[in-house]
Amino acid sequence: MLKAAFPGSFDPPTLGHLDIIQRAAGIFDELLVVVAENRQKKYLFSVDERADMIRRLTADYAKVSVTVCDILVVDFLRKQGIKLLIRGVRGMEDFSHEFELSMMNKALNPGIETLFMTTDPEYFVLRSSSIKELASFQGNISGMVPPLVVEAVKAKYRADTN
Ligand code: ADP
Repeated sequence: MLKAAFPGSFDPPTLGHLDIIQRAAGIFDELLVVVAENRQKKYLFSVDERADMIRRLTADYAKVSVTVCDILVVDFLRKQGIKLLIRGVRGMEDFSHEFELSMMNKALNPGIETLFMTTDPEYFVLRSSSIKELASFQGNISGMVPPLVVEAVKAKYRADTN
């Protein structure tokens, strides 16, 4: 059984994240999407809202399950008995950040292997932070995130302005 984890903030989940999830699910026997809660970060969506969106978006993928995590990802993976950690890369900037992160994770837990999956060219400009910025100016984000995320993001900014 080849089991892998795909950790991230997913604030909110984008078509780029979903593409990685779909492709990884095609390679591994099981894929656990780990929605991270980091108290140092400020999120638009709560960890439960982020996990709920991914659960709904991946409901048809039999190999995919979703969980939340508020401890170090490598410690979480050790507890789950998962050795493969998937991260997506959009370009060199992502790669240098992801490479450093993987070195740190290796130092913390040498048993974990980080595997990088390159983005699909269609999604390489998609970034949760830019999508939120665009939406905060009422920009059109359909085509970047699935429809249920479009609605959820719109509702957040509507609630903010009321
Ligand atoms: P984090 O805050 O942990 O970086 P993100 O939600 O921003 O969480 O990203 C989770 C993972 O998904 C990261 O490995 C990131 O590089 C990858 N990712 C994000 N957007 C894309 C995309 N458009 N294509 C491929 N990978 C992506």
